Amino acid sequence: FFRALEGSGMYLNEAQIAAVRAVDGQVLINAGAGSGKTTVLTCRAAYLLLVRRVPPENIVLVTFTRQAARQMQERLRSIAGVTDGMVRRMITGTFHSLARTIYFHKLTEQPRMMSQKQKEYVLSQLTKEMATGEQYEPETLLALLAYLKNNLYVVGSEWNTRDVDGLKEDARRVLMRYEAYKRENNLIDYEDLITGCIETLAAHPTYREALQRRMTYIMVDEYQDTNIAQYEMIRQLSERASLCVVGDPDQAIYGWRGADPSIMLRFPQEYPNCTCITLDINYRSPAGVVGLGNAVIRHNEDRFEKELKVLPGAPGLPMYMTARSAEHEAECVLALITRLVESGEYAYPDIAVLYRTHSTARTLYEKLLLSDVPFTTHRDEPTFYERGTIRPVLDFLRLSVEPYSEQALSSILPCLYISRARYEKEIHVTAIQQGISYLEAIGHLEGLPAYQKRKLQERATWLASIARISPLQAIKEVRNDAGGGYDRFLGSEQDGAVTYHKEIIRDDLLELEEAARRFATVPEFLTYIDTIVAEKELHRKRQREQVALAGVTLQTVHAAKGLEYPVVIVLGAIDGVMPHSIAVDPDEKADFWLHKKTDVRWQEAVEEERRLAYVAVTRAKRDLYVSSPLYFRGRPAATSPFLLEAFTGRSHIASPATKEETKR
Ligand code: ATP
Ligand code: MG
Repeated sequence: FFRALEGSGMYLNEAQIAAVRAVDGQVLINAGAGSGKTTVLTCRAAYLLLVRRVPPENIVLVTFTRQAARQMQERLRSIAGVTDGMVRRMITGTFHSLARTIYFHKLTEQPRMMSQKQKEYVLSQLTKEMATGEQYEPETLLALLAYLKNNLYVVGSEWNTRDVDGLKEDARRVLMRYEAYKRENNLIDYEDLITGCIETLAAHPTYREALQRRMTYIMVDEYQDTNIAQYEMIRQLSERASLCVVGDPDQAIYGWRGADPSIMLRFPQEYPNCTCITLDINYRSPAGVVGLGNAVIRHNEDRFEKELKVLPGAPGLPMYMTARSAEHEAECVLALITRLVESGEYAYPDIAVLYRTHSTARTLYEKLLLSDVPFTTHRDEPTFYERGTIRPVLDFLRLSVEPYSEQALSSILPCLYISRARYEKEIHVTAIQQGISYLEAIGHLEGLPAYQKRKLQERATWLASIARISPLQAIKEVRNDAGGGYDRFLGSEQDGAVTYHKEIIRDDLLELEEAARRFATVPEFLTYIDTIVAEKELHRKRQREQVALAGVTLQTVHAAKGLEYPVVIVLGAIDGVMPHSIAVDPDEKADFWLHKKTDVRWQEAVEEERRLAYVAVTRAKRDLYVSSPLYFRGRPAATSPFLLEAFTGRSHIASPATKEETKR
C-alpha cells in the first residue's frame, strides 16, 4: 500500500505511516499547519478500503466545510485502487450534513430552515409582545441562543440553564417563547441540526445502535474547532467505533461561534489508551513562510509550544507590500496577479487573496468585477452597497439627485419622521396630482402644525442641498444630520426593521466614505454603484452557470482554513484589521451574559486574532505576499502588530489598560 502511494509521489514519513496504520482504537493527531493531517486522514481511509477491506459505508469522514469534503473526496479518488463507487458509498460531509441526515431520517415532515431576517423579525416581535424590562437586540439574543445550544444547555424543549452565569430571566423567557414558536411552525435554526441529531439518538435507541454498528471507523478533521454539541454527537456515534481526530489548536478560529480547542486537548483523558501522534514537518510551504508562521504564533501565551520543521530547498519566500492606500493596494494586487499569470509561471486558480473581513476586500472585488481577470468568491451576499447599513444612506443621496425616486424616499421615511400612512395618503398623492417631485411634496404637506411643517421644509431643502456637495461630504452630512443622526437611527429599532450593532455600522460607514472619496459628484458615485451592482449580478449568474473560467479565489481567512494555494496574497495586514478592532475592542464586544473579566476576554480575543493571522500565512505553497497599506479609510495605518512581533520578537500589542495609560 505505502509503496503504491510512493508510486503516485506520496512519500509518507514515519509518523504519518504510524497514523495511517493505527486504525484499531482511538487516535489523536495534534500537529501544526501543513504537516499532513488531512493527507493522513485521506490515506487512512484508502488504507481501510484497500488493505483492511472495510466496506465503504462503514467509514465516516467529517470535515469542517463542504469545500473541504469535496477536496477530500477528490484526493481519495486520485489514490490508485480507490474507485469512484467506493468514495460515493462512504459517509463524507460536514458535522451539519451528517447531523441533518440522522435527524431528518426520523421526522415525518422536514422542518424549514429560518432565514436571518425571519429570525430577527420573530424575535423583535416577541420582545415587544412580552414587554421585557430590558431591550435586547435580536442579534444579541440569537448569539445567546446559539451559545446555549452549542454548549448543550438547550436540547429540544429541555432547558438546563441554571448554571449559565448571568443569564437574565427575561432573555431566557423570550428565547423559550421563540423556541416554542419554531416548534409550532416546524422551523429550525442552524444549531438545531446538531441538537436535533443528539435528541434523535437519545429518543431512538434501536436506531442509535444501528448507526453505531454501521459507523465503525469515524475520522474528524479540524477537531480543534468543535464545540460541545458536536463533540457529544460524535461521542455517541463512535461508542463502538475506532475514532480518529486530527487538529491544530493553533488554528482554532471559531471560538466566537462556541468552538473550544480544550475538547481536543482532553481527548487523551477521555480515552486513556488512545494513540497520540504529532507530525512536525511542514510539507506545504517554503522555509521562509513556515518561519513567518512560527514567528507569529509564538507570541500566543495560551498554547503548547511546537515548532514546525521544513524540508530544505523548497523555493518561495514571504514578500511584503506597502501600498499608499486600500485603493492603491487593490491596484497593486491586480497588477501583481496579471504579472504572475503573464509570466507563465502561474494560472489564475493558483492564486488566492485572503482577508479578515469582506469589507477589507471591497475595493479589490470591485476592480476585479470591472476587469477581465476571472475570479471566484463564495459569498452569496448582496454587494457592499446593498447592505442594510449602507442602502439607506445611499437612498438619501439618490433622493437628493433624483427627487422623483419613490423607492428611495419610501425606504428612508422613518429618518424623516414621516409615517407610512402619511406618505401613502398625502405625499404620494400630492406628488402625482400636482406633478411635482417627492422631495417637493414633502415640503408641501398640509394640515401639520407650523413647527412640524417648517421642520419638514427644512429637511427637503437640506436634502436638495446634498446634491451639490461631494459624495464624501454628503455621506458625512447624512450621518450627522438625518433625523437627528443616521448612526443613531440604525442602532435603534424602527418599523420592526433589523437592527445592527453599533460597531458594525461604524465600520461599514467608514468603508462607504472610503468608497466615495474618489468621486467628485453624487451622481458620478451613484452611477458607479449601479455599475457595480449590475456587474455583480452578471458575475453571480456566470458563476452559477459555471461558464466562468476557473479564476483567482477571493475568500476570508475563516473560509480558507485547511486549504492551500501556490500563491497567497493577504490583504490589510494592519492594526485594526489584524487584529480586527471589532473583535478586540473590550467596550464594544459586550457578551452580557458571560461575566468574564474584560482583560481575560481581551486576551482571548487577541490570541484568536493571532491564530487567524497564522492560518492566513500558512496557506501558501510557494509565494506569500502580505500587504500593509499606509493609509486606511483616510487615516494613517500601522502595520499589523502580529507582523511587527514576528519581525522584532517583541510584543507589539497594547492592552486596553496600557492604551489608557498612554492617553493619559
Ligand atoms: P492544515 O493544518 O492547514 O489543515 P494539514 O496538516 O492538513 O494542514 P495537508 O493539507 O494534509 O496538511 O498537507 C499539506 C501539503 O503537504 C499538501 O499539499 C500535501 O499533499 C503535502 N504533503 C503532506 N504529507 C506529505 C508527504 N509525506 N510527502 C509529500 N507531500 C506531503
Ligand atoms: Mg488539514
